[in-house]
Amino acid sequence: MCLSFFEGKGYSDTFTRHMGQVQKMLEANPGITVAAQSDMICEKCPNLKEGQCLSAGKVRSYDKEVLARCNLQENQEISWKEFHRLVEENILSKGKRKEICRDCQWEEICSRRENQGKK
Ligand code: SF4
Repeated sequence: MCLSFFEGKGYSDTFTRHMGQVQKMLEANPGITVAAQSDMICEKCPNLKEGQCLSAGKVRSYDKEVLARCNLQENQEISWKEFHRLVEENILSKGKRKEICRDCQWEEICSRRENQGKK
């Protein structure tokens, strides 16, 4: 979901640069493993300390809800495009994102971009 609204802002310059690189890499439609824990996007996040996210409870609840709504299991393998399609179809196009992550600190950006139709 977050990648759909990413506009170059993030927790630090290193994190933002890395997020942009991941986004670019996903354009090639690699196979991915969906996780409800720290993943490759989190690798450069300053809130990841010794492999543990400082907001793990909140992030995990978001991840688990996304997987449930897309009818996916944790650690399931899927192509990036198929995952993207499922998120779009089951959550974003139905205006359901806020039901999942309304209390995220980046909510204002994602909400604005949704309203502008820029995801
Ligand atoms: S509000 Fe937060 S969790 Fe939800 S899509 Fe935006 S960045 Fe991701």
